[in-house]
Amino acid sequence: MQKPNLRQGSGRQACAHCSAPFEVTPEDLAFYDQVSPVIRGTKYAIPAPSLCPDCRQQRRLAFCNEFNLYPGTCGLCRKRTLSQFPQSSSVPYYCHECWHSDKWNALSYGREIDFTRPFFEQLTALKRSVPSLALDVQGELQNCDYIHYAGSSKNSYLIMHADFCEDCMYGYGFKHNRSCVDGFYNLQCELLYDCVDCHGSYGLTHCQDCINCHSGAFLRDCIGCKSCFLCTGLRNKEYCFENEQLTKEEYRERTQGIDLQSFKTYQECRARRREIEKKHTFKEFHGHNTENCAG
Ligand SMILES: [Zn+2]
Ligand SMILES: [Zn+2]
Repeated sequence: MQKPNLRQGSGRQACAHCSAPFEVTPEDLAFYDQVSPVIRGTKYAIPAPSLCPDCRQQRRLAFCNEFNLYPGTCGLCRKRTLSQFPQSSSVPYYCHECWHSDKWNALSYGREIDFTRPFFEQLTALKRSVPSLALDVQGELQNCDYIHYAGSSKNSYLIMHADFCEDCMYGYGFKHNRSCVDGFYNLQCELLYDCVDCHGSYGLTHCQDCINCHSGAFLRDCIGCKSCFLCTGLRNKEYCFENEQLTKEEYRERTQGIDLQSFKTYQECRARRREIEKKHTFKEFHGHNTENCAG
């Protein structure tokens, strides 16, 4: 395929890494000019990007290791600790207790900046000399030796981007949860398994985008529902099965033989929910208490 005739600098151009075309607008250039730092009276202009937005995003995230943890040793107390840095890394790191202690002072690593040398080369050298946290954890932790990008939690294992959790495992984006397992962005929930984007809910299994729901399974985009199974888009309902309103006794009869521990049942219910979802019109985005927000 013939590559488009693109130029560097401004307007439409080709990514220096992947060759994808992208646009640099006059507004972008004005913004870079506005945020360019002035140090001792000299303006250090931020150049227009040479990489496309996707490649820039990859580069921004490249330093961030969220899921791969390695065995290692604290550089200060020499105790064994899990670490976000592999043994081949030259980055020094301390365990949670040592890093937050007064046994060392990050200011002692201060150095003069050399304006005749590139900035990022010096920043990288500084980062490689100052000890980092072995695992990025904050606050009071009890029995949480295997959590990362997390804090103030108790009895939890492999939860990332998580805070104020107790008895949770295998979660990403967990906040104020208790006894939740295998989840993604669940907030203020209890007893959830395999749920995504659920808030203020209790006793849900295989649910997504649910708020204030109780004792349900295979729900999607439901709010204020209790004892419902395989439903989508319901509001303040009880005893519904495949979006059909049943009596309490009928609901019990329909659900009592369903074995939620069976993988075959799980696959069948997932497939059935996908069919039900096709009949539902979803909101274009999920937002709460937001004003003048897009994107
Ligand atoms: Zn690119
Ligand atoms: Zn230590």
